[in-house]
Amino acid sequence: KRQGRSHEEIVKLRKQLLIPNLSISYDRPIKFVRGEGVWLIDDRGRAYLDCFNNVCHIGHAHPAVVEAMARQAATLNTNTRYLHDNIVAYAERLTATLPKELTVAGFVNSGSEANTLALRMMRAHTGRENAVVIDWAYHGTTQELIDISPYKFQRKGGKGKKPHVHVACVPDSYHAPADWPMEEHGKRYAESVAELIAAMQAKGEAPGFFLAESIPSVAGQVFLPEGYLKEVYRMIRDAGGVCIADEVQVGFGRVGSHWWAFETQGVVPDIVTMGKPIGDGHPLAAVVTTREIADSFNNGMEYFNTFGGNPVSCAVGLAVLDVIEGENLRRNALEVGNHLMAGFREMATRHEAIGDVRGMGLFLGIELVTNRKTKAPATELARAVSNGARQRGVLMGTEGPHDNVLKMRPPMIFSKRDADHLLGALDDTFVAVTA
Ligand code: PMP
Repeated sequence: KRQGRSHEEIVKLRKQLLIPNLSISYDRPIKFVRGEGVWLIDDRGRAYLDCFNNVCHIGHAHPAVVEAMARQAATLNTNTRYLHDNIVAYAERLTATLPKELTVAGFVNSGSEANTLALRMMRAHTGRENAVVIDWAYHGTTQELIDISPYKFQRKGGKGKKPHVHVACVPDSYHAPADWPMEEHGKRYAESVAELIAAMQAKGEAPGFFLAESIPSVAGQVFLPEGYLKEVYRMIRDAGGVCIADEVQVGFGRVGSHWWAFETQGVVPDIVTMGKPIGDGHPLAAVVTTREIADSFNNGMEYFNTFGGNPVSCAVGLAVLDVIEGENLRRNALEVGNHLMAGFREMATRHEAIGDVRGMGLFLGIELVTNRKTKAPATELARAVSNGARQRGVLMGTEGPHDNVLKMRPPMIFSKRDADHLLGALDDTFVAVTA
């Protein structure tokens, strides 16, 4: 028996009561009523393997998170103008996961707020406004973030590129010109940033900042070529700008080998922004920066954030770190991610539409093409695979400029058995949709 209102009724009420720009996943919407670990359970009691939802980092309804949240909520929740243990304990633990230069934390409530705070810090530090971002990037919901998110401003409903925004090409090795040697991809793609800086300088201007996801996700799960961030960070810093890493999707050990995806590029950002997985579903987000930038931001104006850093949110953040560390989930992400990559590669030997498989830990993408030589996007097929996997009880997404990249970000507790379940369902789906 179904629980609560019917799907049709909810769709109708959403149309009537909610801002109409909200979207609904899948051709046939799903109504979930419960989450548990790697599973989401719908209103008919059917369980779906959640391979997509980045936010439930240590699994849906993790008992340690639920317990920490309930205990603190039942005791005290208030703002940062009173002393409390949790906020300093959490800042201590969070900064300990980062390179030694990054020592000062600011707590907010969403990835957008984190990026907005990072921009305020950048302005206070540099006195500049010029942005360098990567094409097809998304950084948040506010107008100033839409303005630096090509994914938004250059698509339907967007108002185009503003003069202070400078867009570098996506450093996508799979689509690199054929005559570029692999080992030069990082350098060659960084030239796109060099050109933007040179154009600014020709007008007597300079970059304020470079902001990028450490693994561009909205651009299609694109893994930066080796050396790319090193080159770009050097150029931006030489020109007096600051380097901001958006770890909203990719952070908190998802890549397995490291806590933070920027570490895989051997760089240290000036500011790191975090969100989504940080609270396992609880709205918590953060900015971590250097003492120097934090001091520049401290210009006499109070920073007060009503909910940011409250004792309940910090208790949740601490519980998430405890579980990642205590259950060795980074190692799990690495092992299970490698197992998935091996499975995807094997699948690619049998399914011609798989043009490229890429991943680090539990951040994974499969690019689908209609032709392996031309690499022409198989957009319809990607949609069919995503819907087909859903029919088989597995949730994933599609991403990229042509929506032809299958996107997977399963929870850090994903087991080899879960991975085999995903691989089996995906294989069956490929067989069915390409038959
Ligand atoms: N940065 C990135 C890379 C994101 O993916 C998102 C959310 N999709 C944001 C920032 C904004 O986060 P939020 O939705 O929590 O405001």
